[in-house]
Amino acid sequence: MTKFEALGLQKSLLDAITDMGFETPSEVQEKAIPILLESETDLVALAQTGTGKTAAFGFPLIQKIDSDSRTTQGLILSPTRELCLQITKEMQAYSKYERNINVVAIYGGASITEQARQIKRGAQIIVATPGRMKDMISRRLVDISKIDYCVLDEADEMLNMGFMEDIKDILSGTPNDKSTWLFSATMPREVATIAKKFMHSPQEITVGAKNSGASTVQHEYYVVGGRDRYPALKRLADTNPDIFSVVFCRTKRDTQKVAEKLIEDGYNAGALHGDLSQNQRDLVMNSFRKKQIQMLVATDVAARGIDVDDITHVINYQLPDEIETYTHRSGRTGRAGKSGISMVIVTRSEQRKIRAIENKINQKFLSKKIPTGMEICEIQLYHLANKIKDTKVNEEVDAYLPAINDVLEGIDREELIKKIVSVEFTRFFNYYNKSKDLNSSDSGRDRDNGKAEIPTSGSVRYFVNVGERDGYDWMSLKDFIRDTVGLGQEDVFKVDVKESFSFFNTEAEVTQQILDKFTDFKVDGRFVNVEVSKNPGGGGGSRRRSGGGGFRGKRNGRRDEGGGKGRRDGGSQSKGRRRDRSESSAPNSGKRRSNKRKGDFF
Ligand code: ADP
Ligand code: MG
Repeated sequence: MTKFEALGLQKSLLDAITDMGFETPSEVQEKAIPILLESETDLVALAQTGTGKTAAFGFPLIQKIDSDSRTTQGLILSPTRELCLQITKEMQAYSKYERNINVVAIYGGASITEQARQIKRGAQIIVATPGRMKDMISRRLVDISKIDYCVLDEADEMLNMGFMEDIKDILSGTPNDKSTWLFSATMPREVATIAKKFMHSPQEITVGAKNSGASTVQHEYYVVGGRDRYPALKRLADTNPDIFSVVFCRTKRDTQKVAEKLIEDGYNAGALHGDLSQNQRDLVMNSFRKKQIQMLVATDVAARGIDVDDITHVINYQLPDEIETYTHRSGRTGRAGKSGISMVIVTRSEQRKIRAIENKINQKFLSKKIPTGMEICEIQLYHLANKIKDTKVNEEVDAYLPAINDVLEGIDREELIKKIVSVEFTRFFNYYNKSKDLNSSDSGRDRDNGKAEIPTSGSVRYFVNVGERDGYDWMSLKDFIRDTVGLGQEDVFKVDVKESFSFFNTEAEVTQQILDKFTDFKVDGRFVNVEVSKNPGGGGGSRRRSGGGGFRGKRNGRRDEGGGKGRRDGGSQSKGRRRDRSESSAPNSGKRRSNKRKGDFF
């Protein structure tokens, strides 16, 4: 007996499986197929892209369809025309030995009359995009009032694309007692909402990312206005204080310009492009290897063969012309078993290129928001607090302590902490206070600058003082919080794990429960502290597997010791303060720079 046979699949399907060359079921297939065959149940299945989800619902669906009836019995909703066609093709291949099973694809951009005609001939299974499906329902060209099974494939993606309302409308016209099978790579809040609203105590299966061969690189994109690319880049850097990155630009000119601006704004940046002499390039690469340069701005050609491990982020300041180039760029991070993040800054009109890349690399992008100024301030603040905590005390200060104590006399602990933290924080605060939201098409995420109170409604964001360094990634941290507090599967979301701290969200109803549980709560003798974060939105609506942030920043409040030889010294810092609103300059002019003169780089 083959492993597929053991799952309970019928002979005709097994023959088709043999023809397709599948030998063993994938994990999601092994888990989902028996459940779906044996019972009439709702199901939520979470598994990464490329884990064989189509067959996981396709085989059981075909086996359960009554081929003697021409009534439409199964509806598969999928986000795009391409996926729709792909699923249809797969379903046709699976059902090649079935008698009289018709699978019809319905999607936009093709003749609706032709699709209606195919339906009319009798389609037991329809594979549709939500938009066209709704259209055809309203024109009474399809009848889904008698379906037994509804599959929501790539549910997270459908909701990402704004199909929530269409899906609700479509489902509202289907029988209440049908079974709904939801397949998704991730479980964001919107998907959980759909599951809650339209499913009846669904069974749940999760397939670990480990078995999917998922890449160690996470892909993220940020949609901004065309003129906000540079300020967006800076915010991404400020959100990740320990960034060690390659920033890709399309032309030598842009490469030079961006690097020049970053240096002027006080970042540890350098440029790498073909107009530099070999000697200049060697100098830049040496500084980069030694991490004196944290942001290497490079053209694709010049960056070829960069053999530096530990790169935390690849930033696509502009997308490349060729999709293949993107693969090369993102491959600069996530090396040597480490995780990495590839970020893309796009304008709204470029967004469709993201889909094209996803298809090519067979991996999904997370749509993320450029953090607001106040979010960056918060991150920097926690960063600093942790840095202070982790600082190894230098015994040499002992000799000066009496004098220092004299100076600080009469200041109590709380005030002293506030003062210490303010030294660094005020710089960021002054810079980012009242700065605008850079996210294109954002409906305005209002922030108030008041103190965090315990909210009573809506979604609540929390800060927790554990992170990657404590061995957590977003999945394990989510599990930890859920299990500790005793919450349900979807109650913890937007988990954003940084190096030494993390953020997550819950609904306000459980806030008190969370805060109560994490009062004086210790793991391995260490306090795990959860606080309501001042920023209710947080993170940008999607989740991260890992963050590159952390607390090793080298801002010492003054320029490097290299002296001002030949540099335009002294100017940028004060300029940065003055021009803060436009974000044309940086808050962190104290960040250490490499000692190279500008002329050496450009
Ligand atoms: P997902 O929907 O999870 O992204 P797909 O269903 O599109 O994944 O499957 C990805 C690829 O794996 C497809 O080319 C499919 O034909 C193939 N595949 C699926 N199941 C198996 C299996 N059991 N053995 C070998 N290949 C499989
Ligand atoms: Mg799929």
